[in-house]
Amino acid sequence: MSVPLSDHAKFYREHQREIDSAIRGVLRSGRFDTGPEVPAFESEFADWVGASHAIGVGSGTAALISALLALEVGSGDEVITVANNDIAGASSIRFVDADIVWVDIARDTKCMDTGACEAAITPRTRAIIAVDMYGHPAEMTELRRIADRHGLRLIEDACIAVGAEIQGRRVGSFADVTCFSFAPGKILSAYGGAGACTVEDPELAERIRMLSAYGQNPNTRRSRQNDLEFLFESDGLNTRLDEIQAAILRVKLQLLEENLRVRRDQASVYTERLRGLVDTPIERPNYRHAWRNYTIESSRRDEISDHLIAQGIGCAMLYAPPLHLQPVNSGLEYATGSLPETERSGERLLCLPIGPHLTESQVDSVVHAVQSALQ
Ligand SMILES: *Cc1c(COP(=O)(O)O)cnc(C)c1O
Repeated sequence: MSVPLSDHAKFYREHQREIDSAIRGVLRSGRFDTGPEVPAFESEFADWVGASHAIGVGSGTAALISALLALEVGSGDEVITVANNDIAGASSIRFVDADIVWVDIARDTKCMDTGACEAAITPRTRAIIAVDMYGHPAEMTELRRIADRHGLRLIEDACIAVGAEIQGRRVGSFADVTCFSFAPGKILSAYGGAGACTVEDPELAERIRMLSAYGQNPNTRRSRQNDLEFLFESDGLNTRLDEIQAAILRVKLQLLEENLRVRRDQASVYTERLRGLVDTPIERPNYRHAWRNYTIESSRRDEISDHLIAQGIGCAMLYAPPLHLQPVNSGLEYATGSLPETERSGERLLCLPIGPHLTESQVDSVVHAVQSALQ
């Protein structure tokens, strides 16, 4: 493949010394679950996004499930969310036994239509999960107002938007809980499953920590009478961030700003050269896109993707078909046509390669390939 969507091996070759040393440090310490790397990463990551607390968990999916459990969303509750999302955006809600309510997206940002969200609120609504789609932040300020007006919990799925900003502030503290994924395909990526929740409320932070780690309260792990006994206060998951992933993430966090800068530069090259030929993604005033994906839209999408693949250029139709049209959700009876903007986008979008693994000439060859596909 001449222009791959991602190239983890290249990153490793370029940073082998730091990565090897981080992993070796954990191996030598012999501490794989309760060592120093996870708390150090949590504190560095919370600082980086400007949140009061970060709790490392095993994946973005685990972050969403832990958030819903900690906010006590459950049976009989409705959760309003969007359907152009990772499958975890539906399975996490069903996992806690709540009901999914999908609303449509705004055409420009691909994020939740805030008017549609407010219109979908019923007496059973308990929470909103907004998604920062492709790296563009959802309208978190307006969604906070809506959630407060109706007494709802607000979760932000920022799994693909680390480093995105609203009015100069990084995402991570706009919602009650912000969920991040550090899966290998994300902007800040580990070498396996990893994720985090960020929160402002210290009690909520403790609850997420307890629920993601066996239901064990970190402050009263052991009984007072006998410090060889472990205490468990609730049912919980075993979905913690592990020491090796945390050590790797600490190395990569140092490189995150440069990673975001390269993505931003590549996105502006694409936009400058493809504007007019296809629909190029936007960045609303006062919002900063993290550019996890560079997503074009065209009625001739399939011609473009066929041409790119023939030229050895990686491309993807991410988060399409939307969740309401996935076989696993057919029982929810959202017919084709029920979310017109979501469906329109799903039929037209194509993600182009973007990221620090690409050279300028590779970006150039993607531009030429899109241009020649449409000639
Ligand atoms: C990747 C992703 C998730 C799930 O994260 P995992 O770490 O794969 O469990 C959730 N939401 C969005 C938007 C994602 O892209």
